[in-house]
Amino acid sequence: MKPPVWHLFWISAPPGLRDVISGFLPGIGSNGVMEQGGRLGAYFPPGNRSREEVWNVLQGMLEGLAAAGLRTETVRIEYEPVEDQDWNETWKRTIQPIVLGCDVTIVPPWLEPDASYPGVTLVIDPGTAFGTGHHETTADCLCALREYAREALEVSQGFADLGTGTGVLAILAARVGFKAVLGIDNDPDAISAALHNIRLNRLENSIRMRLGTVDLLPPGCGMITANLFAGLLADYMAGMVGALSQGGILVLSGMLEGQDTRIERAMKASGLHLRERLSRERWVTLIGMRG
Ligand code: SAM
Repeated sequence: MKPPVWHLFWISAPPGLRDVISGFLPGIGSNGVMEQGGRLGAYFPPGNRSREEVWNVLQGMLEGLAAAGLRTETVRIEYEPVEDQDWNETWKRTIQPIVLGCDVTIVPPWLEPDASYPGVTLVIDPGTAFGTGHHETTADCLCALREYAREALEVSQGFADLGTGTGVLAILAARVGFKAVLGIDNDPDAISAALHNIRLNRLENSIRMRLGTVDLLPPGCGMITANLFAGLLADYMAGMVGALSQGGILVLSGMLEGQDTRIERAMKASGLHLRERLSRERWVTLIGMRG
Protein backbone atom coordinates (compact mmCIF):
# COMPACT_ATOMS: atom_id res chain seq x y z
CA MET A 1 0.00 0.00 0.00
CA LYS A 2 1.31 3.46 -0.86
CA PRO A 3 2.00 5.64 2.24
CA PRO A 4 -0.42 8.57 2.67
CA VAL A 5 0.75 11.83 1.17
CA TRP A 6 1.09 15.04 3.19
CA HIS A 7 0.33 18.33 1.52
CA LEU A 8 3.33 20.69 1.62
CA PHE A 9 2.55 24.22 0.42
CA TRP A 10 5.43 26.59 -0.25
CA ILE A 11 4.44 30.23 0.28
CA SER A 12 6.70 32.99 -1.06
CA ALA A 13 6.03 36.40 0.50
CA PRO A 14 7.99 39.47 1.68
CA PRO A 15 9.52 39.02 5.20
CA GLY A 16 6.94 41.04 7.23
CA LEU A 17 4.00 39.35 5.54
CA ARG A 18 5.69 35.94 5.90
CA ASP A 19 5.65 36.41 9.66
CA VAL A 20 1.97 37.31 9.67
CA ILE A 21 1.11 34.29 7.49
CA SER A 22 3.16 31.89 9.64
CA GLY A 23 1.13 33.07 12.64
CA PHE A 24 -2.12 32.09 10.92
CA LEU A 25 -1.04 28.70 9.49
CA PRO A 26 -1.52 26.59 12.67
CA GLY A 27 -5.02 28.02 13.00
CA ILE A 28 -5.99 26.77 9.52
CA GLY A 29 -4.75 23.25 10.15
CA SER A 30 -1.02 23.25 9.35
CA ASN A 31 0.82 20.83 11.66
CA GLY A 32 4.28 22.22 10.95
CA VAL A 33 5.71 25.38 9.45
CA MET A 34 9.31 25.89 8.37
CA GLU A 35 11.17 28.78 6.74
CA GLN A 36 13.62 28.02 3.96
CA GLY A 37 15.24 30.32 1.41
CA GLY A 38 12.76 33.13 1.97
CA ARG A 39 9.75 30.81 1.67
CA LEU A 40 7.40 29.30 4.22
CA GLY A 41 6.75 25.58 3.97
CA ALA A 42 3.45 24.57 5.57
CA TYR A 43 2.62 20.88 6.12
CA PHE A 44 -1.01 19.75 6.17
CA PRO A 45 -1.80 16.17 7.26
CA PRO A 46 -3.10 13.55 4.83
CA GLY A 47 -6.66 12.33 5.00
CA ASN A 48 -8.27 15.43 6.50
CA ARG A 49 -8.60 17.53 3.36
CA SER A 50 -7.77 17.27 -0.34
CA ARG A 51 -5.04 19.37 -1.91
CA GLU A 52 -7.73 21.59 -3.49
CA GLU A 53 -9.51 22.11 -0.16
CA VAL A 54 -6.28 23.21 1.55
CA TRP A 55 -5.53 25.46 -1.41
CA ASN A 56 -8.95 27.13 -1.00
CA VAL A 57 -8.38 27.64 2.72
CA LEU A 58 -5.00 29.28 1.97
CA GLN A 59 -6.61 31.56 -0.61
CA GLY A 60 -9.30 32.48 1.93
CA MET A 61 -6.61 33.38 4.45
CA LEU A 62 -4.89 35.63 1.87
CA GLU A 63 -8.20 37.33 1.03
CA GLY A 64 -8.76 37.96 4.74
CA LEU A 65 -5.28 39.51 5.07
CA ALA A 66 -5.90 41.67 1.98
CA ALA A 67 -9.22 42.81 3.45
CA ALA A 68 -7.31 43.78 6.62
CA GLY A 69 -5.14 46.09 4.47
CA LEU A 70 -2.06 43.90 3.91
CA ARG A 71 -0.44 43.81 0.43
CA THR A 72 -0.79 40.20 -0.68
CA GLU A 73 -0.48 40.63 -4.50
CA THR A 74 3.10 39.28 -4.59
CA VAL A 75 2.34 36.11 -2.59
CA ARG A 76 2.97 32.90 -4.57
CA ILE A 77 1.89 29.41 -3.48
CA GLU A 78 3.37 26.16 -4.80
CA TYR A 79 2.47 22.57 -3.95
CA GLU A 80 4.68 19.57 -3.18
CA PRO A 81 3.39 16.16 -2.06
CA VAL A 82 5.45 14.57 0.75
CA GLU A 83 5.36 10.89 1.76
CA ASP A 84 4.14 10.34 5.30
CA GLN A 85 7.28 8.87 6.85
CA ASP A 86 9.55 11.78 5.84
CA TRP A 87 7.92 14.99 6.83
CA ASN A 88 8.09 15.01 10.62
CA GLU A 89 11.83 14.39 10.87
CA THR A 90 12.54 16.73 7.95
CA TRP A 91 10.58 19.53 9.58
CA LYS A 92 12.11 18.94 13.01
CA ARG A 93 15.62 19.29 11.60
CA THR A 94 14.77 22.82 10.40
CA ILE A 95 13.91 24.06 13.92
CA GLN A 96 16.87 25.56 15.73
CA PRO A 97 17.06 27.22 19.18
CA ILE A 98 16.16 30.91 19.11
CA VAL A 99 18.66 32.95 21.08
CA LEU A 100 17.35 36.44 21.87
CA GLY A 101 19.78 39.22 22.75
CA CYS A 102 18.01 39.78 26.07
CA ASP A 103 19.14 36.50 27.67
CA VAL A 104 16.19 34.36 26.65
CA THR A 105 16.60 31.15 24.60
CA ILE A 106 13.70 29.15 23.16
CA VAL A 107 14.22 25.48 22.32
CA PRO A 108 11.89 22.82 20.87
CA PRO A 109 11.22 19.84 23.17
CA TRP A 110 13.20 17.35 21.06
CA LEU A 111 16.53 19.18 21.48
CA GLU A 112 18.64 18.39 24.54
CA PRO A 113 18.88 21.33 26.98
CA ASP A 114 22.33 22.84 26.57
CA ALA A 115 24.07 24.66 29.43
CA SER A 116 25.71 26.99 26.91
CA TYR A 117 22.39 28.65 26.04
CA PRO A 118 22.44 32.16 27.52
CA GLY A 119 19.96 33.27 30.20
CA VAL A 120 16.56 31.68 30.75
CA THR A 121 15.74 28.69 28.53
CA LEU A 122 12.08 28.12 27.62
CA VAL A 123 10.83 24.92 25.97
CA ILE A 124 8.16 25.66 23.36
CA ASP A 125 6.67 23.10 20.98
CA PRO A 126 6.50 24.95 17.66
CA GLY A 127 3.74 24.57 15.11
CA THR A 128 0.90 24.45 17.62
CA ALA A 129 -0.02 28.14 18.06
CA PHE A 130 1.40 31.65 17.56
CA GLY A 131 4.31 32.43 19.89
CA THR A 132 7.35 30.38 18.94
CA GLY A 133 9.72 33.32 19.34
CA HIS A 134 10.32 33.69 15.60
CA HIS A 135 8.01 36.66 15.24
CA GLU A 136 9.33 40.17 15.95
CA THR A 137 6.41 41.00 18.25
CA THR A 138 6.96 37.90 20.44
CA ALA A 139 10.70 38.61 20.62
CA ASP A 140 10.16 42.24 21.66
CA CYS A 141 7.49 41.27 24.25
CA LEU A 142 9.85 38.68 25.75
CA CYS A 143 12.67 41.22 25.97
CA ALA A 144 10.39 43.92 27.44
CA LEU A 145 9.06 41.43 30.01
CA ARG A 146 12.62 40.55 31.00
CA GLU A 147 13.71 44.20 31.17
CA TYR A 148 10.76 45.49 33.24
CA ALA A 149 10.12 42.40 35.41
CA ARG A 150 12.09 43.58 38.44
CA GLU A 151 10.34 46.96 38.49
CA ALA A 152 6.89 45.38 38.04
CA LEU A 153 7.53 42.77 40.73
CA GLU A 154 8.08 45.56 43.24
CA VAL A 155 4.50 46.64 42.53
CA SER A 156 2.78 43.22 42.46
CA GLN A 157 3.55 39.56 41.76
CA GLY A 158 0.46 39.27 39.56
CA PHE A 159 1.00 38.86 35.81
CA ALA A 160 -1.47 38.37 32.96
CA ASP A 161 -0.95 37.71 29.25
CA LEU A 162 -3.91 38.56 27.04
CA GLY A 163 -3.80 36.54 23.78
CA THR A 164 -1.36 33.98 25.11
CA GLY A 165 -0.92 31.71 22.03
CA THR A 166 1.73 29.12 22.96
CA GLY A 167 1.90 30.65 26.46
CA VAL A 168 5.50 31.72 25.86
CA LEU A 169 5.16 35.08 27.67
CA ALA A 170 3.36 33.55 30.66
CA ILE A 171 6.07 30.88 30.88
CA LEU A 172 8.82 33.51 30.93
CA ALA A 173 6.88 35.52 33.54
CA ALA A 174 6.76 32.50 35.86
CA ARG A 175 10.45 31.83 35.28
CA VAL A 176 11.47 35.40 36.20
CA GLY A 177 9.54 35.44 39.48
CA PHE A 178 5.85 36.35 39.02
CA LYS A 179 3.82 34.17 41.39
CA ALA A 180 0.25 34.60 40.14
CA VAL A 181 0.48 34.10 36.37
CA LEU A 182 -2.59 33.94 34.12
CA GLY A 183 -2.74 33.39 30.35
CA ILE A 184 -5.94 34.20 28.45
CA ASP A 185 -6.87 33.32 24.87
CA ASN A 186 -10.17 33.16 22.99
CA ASP A 187 -8.99 30.19 20.90
CA PRO A 188 -9.39 26.78 22.60
CA ASP A 189 -6.55 25.34 20.49
CA ALA A 190 -4.18 28.02 21.79
CA ILE A 191 -5.19 27.17 25.37
CA SER A 192 -4.42 23.46 24.72
CA ALA A 193 -1.05 24.40 23.17
CA ALA A 194 -0.21 26.66 26.12
CA LEU A 195 -1.10 23.95 28.67
CA HIS A 196 1.12 21.50 26.76
CA ASN A 197 4.03 23.99 26.83
CA ILE A 198 3.48 24.70 30.53
CA ARG A 199 3.85 20.96 31.22
CA LEU A 200 7.03 20.84 29.11
CA ASN A 201 8.47 23.58 31.35
CA ARG A 202 7.15 21.87 34.54
CA LEU A 203 5.23 25.00 35.54
CA GLU A 204 1.80 23.38 36.08
CA ASN A 205 1.64 24.75 39.61
CA SER A 206 2.64 28.29 38.66
CA ILE A 207 0.51 29.25 35.65
CA ARG A 208 -3.24 29.20 35.01
CA MET A 209 -4.85 29.39 31.54
CA ARG A 210 -8.38 30.60 30.82
CA LEU A 211 -10.46 30.61 27.64
CA GLY A 212 -11.87 34.08 27.07
CA THR A 213 -10.81 37.65 26.68
CA VAL A 214 -10.15 41.01 28.35
CA ASP A 215 -12.91 40.77 31.00
CA LEU A 216 -11.03 37.84 32.59
CA LEU A 217 -8.04 40.03 33.51
CA PRO A 218 -7.64 39.92 37.30
CA PRO A 219 -7.20 43.20 39.18
CA GLY A 220 -3.91 44.26 40.76
CA CYS A 221 -1.42 43.03 38.14
CA GLY A 222 2.20 44.18 38.27
CA MET A 223 2.50 43.49 34.55
CA ILE A 224 0.15 42.75 31.65
CA THR A 225 1.31 41.77 28.17
CA ALA A 226 -0.96 41.83 25.11
CA ASN A 227 0.38 40.91 21.67
CA LEU A 228 -2.81 41.31 19.62
CA PHE A 229 -3.84 43.64 16.79
CA ALA A 230 -3.99 47.46 16.79
CA GLY A 231 -7.82 47.60 16.77
CA LEU A 232 -8.14 45.21 19.72
CA LEU A 233 -5.45 46.98 21.73
CA ALA A 234 -7.37 50.26 21.47
CA ASP A 235 -10.70 48.59 22.34
CA TYR A 236 -9.22 46.77 25.34
CA MET A 237 -7.16 49.69 26.69
CA ALA A 238 -9.47 50.66 29.56
CA GLY A 239 -9.89 47.02 30.65
CA MET A 240 -6.14 46.40 30.62
CA VAL A 241 -5.25 49.61 32.45
CA GLY A 242 -7.99 48.95 35.02
CA ALA A 243 -6.41 45.57 35.84
CA LEU A 244 -2.96 47.11 36.48
CA SER A 245 -1.77 48.14 39.93
CA GLN A 246 -0.52 51.69 40.38
CA GLY A 247 3.01 51.66 38.93
CA GLY A 248 2.28 48.46 36.96
CA ILE A 249 3.69 47.88 33.47
CA LEU A 250 1.68 47.31 30.27
CA VAL A 251 3.47 45.77 27.26
CA LEU A 252 1.49 46.12 24.02
CA SER A 253 2.46 44.64 20.67
CA GLY A 254 1.02 43.46 17.36
CA MET A 255 0.83 46.87 15.66
CA LEU A 256 2.70 48.02 12.57
CA GLU A 257 4.58 51.30 12.19
CA GLY A 258 1.94 53.99 11.69
CA GLN A 259 -0.67 52.20 13.79
CA ASP A 260 1.25 52.94 16.99
CA THR A 261 0.39 56.66 17.18
CA ARG A 262 -3.26 55.82 17.78
CA ILE A 263 -2.38 53.26 20.47
CA GLU A 264 0.05 55.67 22.12
CA ARG A 265 -2.71 58.30 22.29
CA ALA A 266 -5.11 55.75 23.82
CA MET A 267 -2.47 54.77 26.38
CA LYS A 268 -1.94 58.37 27.45
CA ALA A 269 -5.69 59.04 27.57
CA SER A 270 -6.06 56.06 29.95
CA GLY A 271 -3.46 57.44 32.35
CA LEU A 272 -0.39 55.52 31.19
CA HIS A 273 3.03 57.08 30.98
CA LEU A 274 4.92 55.82 27.87
CA ARG A 275 8.21 54.29 29.01
CA GLU A 276 9.62 52.87 25.78
CA ARG A 277 8.89 52.19 22.13
CA LEU A 278 10.57 49.16 20.51
CA SER A 279 10.56 48.50 16.79
CA ARG A 280 11.71 45.50 14.68
CA GLU A 281 11.01 45.06 10.97
CA ARG A 282 8.09 47.55 11.09
CA TRP A 283 6.48 45.86 14.13
CA VAL A 284 6.10 48.14 17.14
CA THR A 285 5.94 47.31 20.85
CA LEU A 286 4.89 50.01 23.34
CA ILE A 287 5.63 49.85 27.05
CA GLY A 288 3.62 52.00 29.44
CA MET A 289 3.41 52.45 33.18
CA ARG A 290 0.23 53.21 35.12
CA GLY A 291 0.84 56.54 36.85
N1 SAM B 1 1.33 35.98 23.26
C1 SAM B 1 1.86 35.24 22.14
C2 SAM B 1 3.07 35.98 21.60
O1 SAM B 1 3.37 37.08 22.05
O2 SAM B 1 3.73 35.44 20.70
C3 SAM B 1 0.82 35.03 21.04
C4 SAM B 1 0.31 36.31 20.40
S1 SAM B 1 -0.71 36.01 18.95
C5 SAM B 1 -0.22 37.36 17.93
C6 SAM B 1 -2.32 36.57 19.44
C7 SAM B 1 -3.12 35.56 20.22
O3 SAM B 1 -4.28 36.27 20.70
C8 SAM B 1 -3.65 34.36 19.46
O4 SAM B 1 -3.35 33.18 20.15
C9 SAM B 1 -5.16 34.61 19.36
O5 SAM B 1 -5.91 33.40 19.43
C10 SAM B 1 -5.42 35.46 20.57
N2 SAM B 1 -6.56 36.39 20.45
C11 SAM B 1 -6.99 37.04 19.32
N3 SAM B 1 -8.03 37.83 19.63
C12 SAM B 1 -8.26 37.71 20.96
C13 SAM B 1 -9.20 38.27 21.86
N4 SAM B 1 -10.10 39.14 21.43
N5 SAM B 1 -9.16 37.91 23.16
C14 SAM B 1 -8.24 37.01 23.58
N6 SAM B 1 -7.32 36.43 22.77
C15 SAM B 1 -7.32 36.78 21.48
